Amino acid sequence: MLSRMNPNADHAATRVREASASGCQFASDNYAGICPEALHAMADANRGHVRSYGEDEWTRRACDMLRERFETDCEVFFVFNGTAANALAVATLCKPFHGVICHESAHLETDECGAPEFFSSGSKVLLARGDHGKVSLADVERLVRQRADIHYPKPHALSITQSTELGTVYSVEEIREVGLLAKALHLRLHMDGARLANAVATLNVPLKDITWKAGVDVVCLGGAKNGGALGEAVVFFDRHLAEEFDFRCKQAGQLASKMRFLSAQWLGLLENDVWLRNAQRANACARLLAEQLQTVPGLRILFPCQANAVFVDMPPALADALRRRGWHFYTFIGNAARFMCAWNTTEADIAALVADFHACASTHP
Ligand SMILES: *Cc1c(COP(=O)(O)O)cnc(C)c1O
Repeated sequence: MLSRMNPNADHAATRVREASASGCQFASDNYAGICPEALHAMADANRGHVRSYGEDEWTRRACDMLRERFETDCEVFFVFNGTAANALAVATLCKPFHGVICHESAHLETDECGAPEFFSSGSKVLLARGDHGKVSLADVERLVRQRADIHYPKPHALSITQSTELGTVYSVEEIREVGLLAKALHLRLHMDGARLANAVATLNVPLKDITWKAGVDVVCLGGAKNGGALGEAVVFFDRHLAEEFDFRCKQAGQLASKMRFLSAQWLGLLENDVWLRNAQRANACARLLAEQLQTVPGLRILFPCQANAVFVDMPPALADALRRRGWHFYTFIGNAARFMCAWNTTEADIAALVADFHACASTHP
């Protein structure tokens, strides 16, 4: 079957399929396994009987290490996933009659099954437009100013995603502007940082510059997509906001009894800046893919490739042909296919994918 099209490309692709850690898929960075450092840290936490519910040494150290990385005395909580992190953070920022503004493509809106509304007991998600997955400041302002009566949910929080769902990154300046606007409009600022590491890898600035120093009140920091097994950290820069958050987590079923296995992964990721290297690797592979796909006829790269995602507009027949060759990726609105790179994506994976792109493009022009 395969060798009918382009024998050389097929051999390269087959070799990679057999050898690759990524298993030839670009569907999501959460398809990747656990990076060795995080796994090792979990194994290290696996000794003897240890106090539960976060009263352990690993959790204490992981919190301290996050405080060091953020260079501030923040309050840290570990929960099982990003949906819970986002939803519980929003619930903390908003009363039930408040609204939370986010981009129309935000995970909060499109991929959380209404969890932010559910956990906040009714806070309505209000959708802002904006290019490349970033909220337009003018549209945020419009949403806040258009109504002030009691018949409309009062906007009280703004949520931005860094890096965005479309693989773009807010610059330091852009985040500062968002922070200033949020302040002027009396909005609390939440950051969905499921891929914050990828943004830091691109911007090459300290974490503080694109979080608390720019006015962010709470960050949900991603672990799973960065090389952890599971779990995200909720980081409050305004400690006052974190009051009773532990009760909120427990009630939501988000308090791990064997917390040390959630928190230990962060030690593995944070020590020696593994988190940053993982993100740099994923970003570099995405950049390489975006560059090399320019040589394939009939494709269009949709957004600036600034993190670990490449969005490609291509004919459905080409997408089908790639899938038949075993490649996994998501297709979103229209013909846009998303290719995600992870901490363990290799240059050989990219080469094999690009070779199959060429092979399929020549038979499905
Ligand atoms: C993956 C992801 C999350 C977290 O999703 P869970 O599946 O709930 O862990 C949050 N925000 C964004 C932008 C994501 O891509």
